[in-house]
Amino acid sequence: MSAPRCVLITGTSSGIGLATAIAAARSGWRTVATLRDTARADGLRKAAADVGIELDIRQLDVTDETSVAAAVDGVIADYGRLDAVVNNAGAGHLGTLENDSVADVRQVMEVNFFGVLNVSRAALPHLRATCGRLVTVTSVGGVIGQPFNEAYCAAKFAVEGYMESLAPVALTLGVSVSVVEPGAVASEFVNNVGFDLETGITADPYSDALRRYIDRTVEQFMDGSAQSPAEAAEAVMEALSADRPAFRIQTSDWARAFIGTKLADADGSAVQGVTAAWVD
Ligand code: NAP
Repeated sequence: MSAPRCVLITGTSSGIGLATAIAAARSGWRTVATLRDTARADGLRKAAADVGIELDIRQLDVTDETSVAAAVDGVIADYGRLDAVVNNAGAGHLGTLENDSVADVRQVMEVNFFGVLNVSRAALPHLRATCGRLVTVTSVGGVIGQPFNEAYCAAKFAVEGYMESLAPVALTLGVSVSVVEPGAVASEFVNNVGFDLETGITADPYSDALRRYIDRTVEQFMDGSAQSPAEAAEAVMEALSADRPAFRIQTSDWARAFIGTKLADADGSAVQGVTAAWVD
């Protein structure tokens, strides 16, 4: 019998990463669930125990190349293969040009863009060996810029552009590249932005617009229209399991309709059809 396929997932302390780790293990993947702080793995362990599955929980901070290399090398040393990576780790940021320092924006890029590159670079030689899959959770904000999300959307646009460019090249070596685009998901994402509603809005030219944006966002997350992390994880599983996954996979009809206001090529197949021919 051949060894089970092995997937490494980043950012599994909560939300979509946690739900994907559970879904992957339940689907028979050997699942390496990574966290930047393994002391935060209690929820993950409990979720795994509740459904009677085993996870291999390891440390990985996407912004730390040493930590990324140690995790990927460890997987290869222990299992001899890596069949898929899910770049899920990410963090939101609320701000606008005049209120964000360049250092703030760099930090957003470190986690959401360079973090994805760190993990993907370390993994790709091993994914080539298995004709594996490189899946990255981006956002509808990787297609449509949203108010007070300039830095976050810029990072997600950057990831989408990077992966859209890489996809035809990686495919020549048998590696499939996909991005998964959620809309609102009821995870720890909003809490982890760390924005204090009481003190965060200061009196400046942007405060009225920011208040309106926050009111709308809070309502969107409170009125039940946000997806569950488990629903969003189903789209990640499609990218891992489909025979020929699309380049772009939205996690909901809402996300598909929203990006459809801007993209005629919602699943990316038209663009991939053109660019793949350039390297085929
Ligand atoms: P979440 O519950 O906040 O989960 C984010 C995960 O990323 C956490 O496990 C967090 O770990 C981890 N993380 C942050 N920085 C990291 C780092 N430097 N190294 C490793 N892990 C790190 O939010 P989520 O909604 O599940 O987010 C998952 C992905 O979906 C993100 O890429 C996010 O941008 C994207 N997304 C979310 C939404 C939404 O509405 N929730 C919408 C569109 C896209 P800690 O616990 O240590 O902070």
